[in-house]
Amino acid sequence: MATKLPVVVIVGRPNVGKSTFFNRLIKRRAAVVEDQIEQVRVQAEVAMEEADTILFLTEVTAGVTPDDWELANRLRGSKKPILVVVNKTDNPQRAANAGEFYALGLGEIFMVSSLHGKGVADLLDRIVEELPQVEKDEEEPDEIRLAILGRPNVGKSSLLNAFTGEQRAIVSNIPGTTRDAIDTLLSYRDERFRLIDTAGLRRRGKIQGSIEYYMVDRAMKALDRANVGLIVVDGDAGLTDGDKRTAKLAHDGGKAVVIAVNKWDVKEPPNGKPKQKSPEKKAFLQQIRDELPEVSYAPVCFTSAKESAGLEPVLDTVLKALDSYNFRIATGPFNRLIQDALFSKPYSTKGKFLKVYYATQVATRPPTFALFCNDPEIVHFSYLRYIENQFRKKYPLEGTPLRWKLKSSHEKKS
Ligand code: GDP
Ligand code: GDP
Repeated sequence: MATKLPVVVIVGRPNVGKSTFFNRLIKRRAAVVEDQIEQVRVQAEVAMEEADTILFLTEVTAGVTPDDWELANRLRGSKKPILVVVNKTDNPQRAANAGEFYALGLGEIFMVSSLHGKGVADLLDRIVEELPQVEKDEEEPDEIRLAILGRPNVGKSSLLNAFTGEQRAIVSNIPGTTRDAIDTLLSYRDERFRLIDTAGLRRRGKIQGSIEYYMVDRAMKALDRANVGLIVVDGDAGLTDGDKRTAKLAHDGGKAVVIAVNKWDVKEPPNGKPKQKSPEKKAFLQQIRDELPEVSYAPVCFTSAKESAGLEPVLDTVLKALDSYNFRIATGPFNRLIQDALFSKPYSTKGKFLKVYYATQVATRPPTFALFCNDPEIVHFSYLRYIENQFRKKYPLEGTPLRWKLKSSHEKKS
């Protein structure tokens, strides 16, 4: 599950004071997301899709206008809490007029003056009451939870031992939340890593029956608890279908992903120059890109558990992958990037062109984007891949999958 903070969307026709109000909130250090969209129709759709709480901003000097009615009618019936905010209520005379906004039929109204800050604190309290509770992680939120994945014999337990066997390493072994799992805590660069034992790596042998089922089940449980999957492959034996299945599992799990090519000592003895990319490494890397396309964004490290080589670069790469996993882009530049991508290579099918009215990032871990468009049905997945490639040209975000959601935002039939 992606981590999502509660979202408050502010809607309202131009000039009611949305920016003034928003800046007032920001000064109060509230976590509020505001999006400026001119079209009332799109505003209403975005709010109903994305908001946990909708702030419908109006202002008292103009009274209830046709635009207010249109927005109210579009929002009516939404299951999200809506707070009607009557702005510019600077003085008692104006407050006396604010009552007419009850006519909109959206419930309670809140009188504020964004300019003077009046009523804003009370409203904030009310917003907080309306917001859903964010679930707290059962485990330390700051720790890095790494699941070591891969088919049998690639060297997962050897790697786990190599990570923890050195001086930098062990803090403790503690029972994980899943039965049988033993987590290993490791501190590195002031960060706390929790290595999640995937398949009972420390309890060797005696798995009978459906090994494949057992392994997949364990790997999925480990991934559930992890925020990074480390896919270990065998640099000596090469890639197999089992690696492909692991890659798919990790990708579908929506976690950050790093690949370790282990047993590299068999190909090249460690020479203390891990930065250098030999022709052998380049060839293996190409093979990974060809055969594991679902994790094309995953950085690749070469390791030897046997020689304890290449281990720290894996941990550094995991840290970088987590940065990508937490990436957030502002709505303005994101919309420009998406519109540029559409402009460079317009998409159409059966004479119908794809239009994206509005694009926004809706979650992190992994970065998840919503595109509000005229017709999501017409879009072939290869076009989303094109958009993702364009996006990654600007923001490579190595180590994280990205999620794209197409949402419909119908144009009014004229
Ligand atoms: P937006 O288009 O909804 O973002 O509106 P703005 O925040 O740009 O505000 C439009 C105008 O209303 C600006 O001139 C603001 O100074 C003014 N304004 C905003 N809030 C208040 C308020 O509480 N009282 C008064 N008197 N004017 C306000
Ligand atoms: P797992 O099933 O993925 O946990 O794999 P193991 O850690 O049990 O390793 C399987 C076999 O590969 C064992 O015989 C290990 O000694 C060997 N092995 C693991 N890592 C390396 C390595 O980096 N280099 C070499 N040459 N052998 C390794």
